[in-house]
Amino acid sequence: SNIIIAIDGYSSCGKSTLAKALAKRLNFIYVDSGAMYRATTLYFLNENVDLNNELEVENALKNLELNFNSRDYQSHITLNGKEVSDEIREMHVSQKVSEVSALKAVRQAMVKQQQKMGKSKNIVMDGRDIGTQVFPDAQIKLFMVADPLIRAERRYNELKKLGYNDVTFDEILDNLNKRDYADTTRKESPLVKADDAITLDNSKLTEAEQLAFALDKVRP
Ligand code: C5P
Repeated sequence: SNIIIAIDGYSSCGKSTLAKALAKRLNFIYVDSGAMYRATTLYFLNENVDLNNELEVENALKNLELNFNSRDYQSHITLNGKEVSDEIREMHVSQKVSEVSALKAVRQAMVKQQQKMGKSKNIVMDGRDIGTQVFPDAQIKLFMVADPLIRAERRYNELKKLGYNDVTFDEILDNLNKRDYADTTRKESPLVKADDAITLDNSKLTEAEQLAFALDKVRP
């Protein structure tokens, strides 16, 4: 049957960089589950959805279609047919996403779509609950951690590269801390290491070293 690699961990630990490298090397499909929560958040912001109104949330989820084009292992995600890959990285989305992703109805809809993607294909999926909720039977589970300052610096450089020059280092660090707190303390599927996940501390590893570490787990 098909193989699932689950990569979970805190915000900006390098999960997606490693997941993309693995997918490329193994010829698997890469799925960025965080992009789905971000695109949903963008939609909710655009449509002014009241997060406390269950009916509004349900209706918004019905009217939202997310698709990936993973031809090049980047997460090109479309929201109702429009590519939003860059827009979902903007700070106004980052600041709202943990609140949106804490909603039960949102998680149910995302998990369902994610499980469907893993039905018949070899995939690498990264996120917060992949090894615990989405694919508890995944063959390989990694849990990534890294020094908060290194993570904030990485995210800062990424955003600069995308041309978002207004955002400061402190804002990013603050956002990472807030999201980690919200993600680990929420009621629905909090971020937690699966018992059978292997911890990968990425603070001092190069991308090549991380890939070698992960490949070693895939092919023992
Ligand atoms: O991975 P990324 O940092 O882009 O994820 C953005 C946010 O989406 C996280 O902070 C978290 O609130 C939410 N998320 C989640 N479950 C996932 C992936 C992301 O709750 N599997």
